[in-house]
Amino acid sequence: MRTSYLAGNWKMNLSISEAKALVADLAVGMKGTDNKVMVAPPFTMLSAVKEAIDASGASIVLAAQNMSDSTSGAHTGEVAPAMLKEVGVTSVILGHSERRSIYGECDAFINRKVKLALDQGLEAVLCVGETLEERQSGKLEAVLDTQLVEGLKGVSDLSHVVIAYEPVWAIGTGETATPDDANSVHAYIRKKITELYSQEVADSLIIQYGGSVKPDNVKDLMSMEHIDGALVGGASLDAKSFVTICTYNSL
Ligand code: PEP
Repeated sequence: MRTSYLAGNWKMNLSISEAKALVADLAVGMKGTDNKVMVAPPFTMLSAVKEAIDASGASIVLAAQNMSDSTSGAHTGEVAPAMLKEVGVTSVILGHSERRSIYGECDAFINRKVKLALDQGLEAVLCVGETLEERQSGKLEAVLDTQLVEGLKGVSDLSHVVIAYEPVWAIGTGETATPDDANSVHAYIRKKITELYSQEVADSLIIQYGGSVKPDNVKDLMSMEHIDGALVGGASLDAKSFVTICTYNSL
């Protein structure tokens, strides 16, 4: 049995006071849910959001949106895993398509971060997904194979790994993969993980879907066999929307 895991990626949005208010509203709205909920604020808000989470008494996972592939030293502008842990972060999103496309992060670089995050005791949320061009030219499975094999190279234990399937063409565009379409890709990912690891590992792996998840499509997506959660961008910035997504079971 996989616990539903709903995550809000705030990207480069919100002020500290808006973030604190959002956490307070989220904590009230998610009361009673058994679902796992995560928020991923920008680095500068992590401490304040941690305080807000603690003050609310809610069980909300605090994640970073990125992390250095090194532990310390001369890496101007980077943030080390120990620094994240020091402010209460327990999870980190890695290989988001915006990191891949805007900042040129390649699979080998992302793999170093995944391994380092796990070594340092952080949960790693590895994002994978194809562009529209890759999908239309029949490369979907090849792209996923590469991102999974390379991204997880040298990782023997997936118990602290989450995979987020985010078709690039569905991120921030209002376009969503249909639930059936997303489910078949998730099933493919689970099959690939079975080949690379084992059926048991694949069966317990959380695979989130990301790409314009909203209150009006979350229930249909989450009703699919292989969709275990959502990585939500835009709709996680509004308390009412994100609460509805996190408590989709009662829709
Ligand atoms: C994301 O940030 O990973 C994302 C899926 O964004 P959106 O929900 O806005 O499409």
